[in-house]
Amino acid sequence: MARYDYDLFTIGAGSGGVRASRMSAAFGAKVAVAEERYLGGTCVNVGCIPKKLLVYAAHYGEDFSDAAGFGWTVSEPRFDWARLIANKNKEISRLNGVYRKILDDSGVEIFDGHAEIEDPHTVTLDGKQITAKYILVAVGGWPAVPQFLGSEHAITSNEAFYLRSLPERVIIVGGGYIGVEFAGIFHGLGSRTTQLYRGKSFLRGFDDDIRTTLATEMLKRGVDLRFETEIRKIDKAGETLDATLSDGSVIEADQILYATGRLPKTRDLGLERAAVHMSETGAVLVDEYSRSNIESIYAIGDCTDRMMLTPVAIAEGMAVANTLFNDKPMRPNYLNVPTAVFSTPNCGTVGLTESEARARNFHVDIYRSFYRPLKHTLTGRDERTMMKLVVDQATDLVLGCHMVGPDAGEIIQGLAVALNCRATKAQFDATIGIHPTAAEEFVTMRSKVA
Ligand SMILES: Cc1cc2nc3c(=O)[nH]c(=O)nc-3n(C[C@H](O)[C@H](O)[C@H](O)COP(=O)(O)OP(=O)(O)OC[C@H]3O[C@@H](n4cnc5c(N)ncnc54)[C@H](O)[C@@H]3O)c2cc1C
Repeated sequence: MARYDYDLFTIGAGSGGVRASRMSAAFGAKVAVAEERYLGGTCVNVGCIPKKLLVYAAHYGEDFSDAAGFGWTVSEPRFDWARLIANKNKEISRLNGVYRKILDDSGVEIFDGHAEIEDPHTVTLDGKQITAKYILVAVGGWPAVPQFLGSEHAITSNEAFYLRSLPERVIIVGGGYIGVEFAGIFHGLGSRTTQLYRGKSFLRGFDDDIRTTLATEMLKRGVDLRFETEIRKIDKAGETLDATLSDGSVIEADQILYATGRLPKTRDLGLERAAVHMSETGAVLVDEYSRSNIESIYAIGDCTDRMMLTPVAIAEGMAVANTLFNDKPMRPNYLNVPTAVFSTPNCGTVGLTESEARARNFHVDIYRSFYRPLKHTLTGRDERTMMKLVVDQATDLVLGCHMVGPDAGEIIQGLAVALNCRATKAQFDATIGIHPTAAEEFVTMRSKVA
């Protein structure tokens, strides 16, 4: 008789948990997964996918007005938020079904409900005890809103995806990528949008040229961007929210969205009972193989607070499945993880920023290009694209590529492969561009700016 009910019990069927579960099953393990809310997790339900759909919707606003320069006459466009949200919800339900089928077809048993850890090999679910040789914690994260007078009137990205109407006036608080993206979404759809950030400039950790270029482009479009500003209190007067700012001024809004960070969703999970070590913020502490201090308990994705990105959670899930059930101990490769911000315009980045490279004592050459995209020569839109390469003088290796402009994420993905192949600037230069594209600029930049 088997000693345990399952070889692997995964808690959380999000990006990481689903991949780890189905790969483990494919390697021959008997696997179950518990999901308390929605199959596909944050990414599918209240993250990457609905966000990108809303970004597409927002970009149409500019496209309609840009079309005039190309000879089109478009009658006054009207936007219907309720229709967009209904269509988005339909697509997400379809994806929930796809995830259920993927798990079913892989032979992974699904438990719909809240799971808690009882001990290093036992999970409780609906009062039932289930044992497993390994437990994988893949519970993701949850938005964190600071507590202050009136903070209960604020919403988070979770609620923003389900608003009944488009707010006429919206305040976004926070300077991370989610805040920047929602500022672009609401502004693009027609809301009067203010974004507040308490620091000197948003997108901390991104290259400074990305940060300043994006801020300039957002201001040009009319987003009311205010740095070094916070909300002190929120008063509700009827349907209107009055936000009192740190400088004493008051802004009226219909919605106030806090995008001020996410915390690991590890409360009420029983990790303490199993003596699993966690950080102060509740992140499960793991080694390079995603194993906690308890030999049978692993953790992946956002609840480990490493890199909060879907492809990273997936890579960690794949690595755990290979380590435990394919006899191939595997550590995810965190080198040159590319990332995009689906702001308006987009940002894309891979490798070291200029300041990171200098802080690591690299002597670097900087190549940078600011130009007006070809499309806007006819639309008349005053938009600039920024592209930048950070190159190590000693080895000629390209250490970082950064971009603000349309399709930046699409362009940077290919460059991430080049960086992982240790491409040099000479190899970039020797590569023939595709003309006329924005991407060709990355292989034609010749003059050092620093
Ligand atoms: C607004 C927003 C936009 C984003 N955009 C992007 C993007 O463009 N690109 C990108 O790469 N990343 C993006 N992310 C981040 C991405 O969504 C996460 O990094 C990714 O979903 C993490 O996957 P995960 O498996 O760790 O957790 P999740 O996907 O969060 O899954 C965890 C699952 O566990 C379940 N769960 C939790 N506790 C229990 C329990 N006790 N019992 C049973 N089930 C439980 C939850 O219900 C959830 O379904 C975005 C996130 C947000 C919020």
